[in-house]
Amino acid sequence: MASQIRPLGELIDEATTAFEKRFGSKPTIGARAPGRVNLIGEHTDYNDGFVFPMALPMVTVIVGNPTTSGVCRVETLSVSTDEPWYTEFSVDDIKPGKPKWCNYVKGVAAQMPGKLTSFDAVIVSSVPLGGGVSSSASVEVATYTFLEQICAEGADIPLIEKILKCQKAEHVFAGMPCGIMDQFISMMGKEGHALLIDCRSQIGRLVPMSNPDVVVLVTNSNVKHELTGSEYPTRRKQCETAAKVLGVTSLRDATELDLEAKKGEVDKETFCRVRHVITEIKRTDQASAALEMGDYERFGDYMVASHNSLRDDYEVSCKELDQLVEFALEMKDEGVYGSRMTGGGFGGCTVTLLKASAVDKVIKHMDTKYTASGRKATFFVCPPSDGASYLDLPA
Ligand code: ADP
Ligand code: MG
Repeated sequence: MASQIRPLGELIDEATTAFEKRFGSKPTIGARAPGRVNLIGEHTDYNDGFVFPMALPMVTVIVGNPTTSGVCRVETLSVSTDEPWYTEFSVDDIKPGKPKWCNYVKGVAAQMPGKLTSFDAVIVSSVPLGGGVSSSASVEVATYTFLEQICAEGADIPLIEKILKCQKAEHVFAGMPCGIMDQFISMMGKEGHALLIDCRSQIGRLVPMSNPDVVVLVTNSNVKHELTGSEYPTRRKQCETAAKVLGVTSLRDATELDLEAKKGEVDKETFCRVRHVITEIKRTDQASAALEMGDYERFGDYMVASHNSLRDDYEVSCKELDQLVEFALEMKDEGVYGSRMTGGGFGGCTVTLLKASAVDKVIKHMDTKYTASGRKATFFVCPPSDGASYLDLPA
């Protein structure tokens, strides 16, 4: 069975109740921002390439009030670690530290244009944490969207500047040198659409995705291998070095022929890494065109090619993700178009495109086989949803 996605109203009620309990007043300002699933285009964003995500119906909600104390007081209801759920920091001294979860909030607070007003806030989320669907960007973008209602200058800058500030928060305060995709889609997603983002020009193009007969299934493997933290910067570095060898600004400008010509100058591992990036950028462009034409079969084939490339050339998949993709593809005759790992890798989620009529059968099959392998997956049927917005809180 697919998991129920918690309705927005329920999240707002939970956050509001917790806020009243902790701070003794009603919150008057609120924002929501979604997680995302990337349909195709993995590890291409930091290579100036294309990515093709959509915003999820799972969101981070933040409610609160401005204060005059100069101290920001924040509670989360959603971290599953043993870190404290409540913390405070001064507007005049914002530095990364503990608890780690608050670095995403502080990072954005530190980026706000103009003078930061202190605030009280409570955060709650329905986005799976650490599952590769970008709960971190949803916290950043929700925080920005909340704070721009308190600090007026924050609302006045162009959207792309807001996105870049959220990205910078993740770089500087969470130590994660991510590309621009996650914050971009969380800010700019639109119901019934996926978004083709050209990470070089930083321009997005909405692609309608509202055929009721076709469904996106996000499957959380519920594993997270520890490699993620160290492997991501390593891959990034390899790409930068390879671009220099190929004589291009970024791998976006290289072709498979260029790579072949320099085969003798790069080691085998780098060759494979670059081959993934070059072919993935091309696939993403072609796949988005296929989706736009409603050619789901072809889109599914690109998804599978993407997974294989991430598994074999970029080496960021893992056994559990490979299994989930394999189990999904065993149901091709029943209506699965394609399936692949999504997000940075080494655990997290897969994304599967399939016929709506096949959802129950496919989930049952994947669930049975994955459970037999000793794990438990979580399944979410995800319509493409809206990016960040303000919340109207009950008076
Ligand atoms: P992903 O973005 O794929 O979910 P990350 O490791 O980048 O994984 O981000 C997960 C981290 O983001 C969590 O460990 C936590 O520190 C922070 N985070 C995400 N959602 C929340 C939340 N609702 N409240 C507090 N912290 C959160
Ligand atoms: Mg993240």
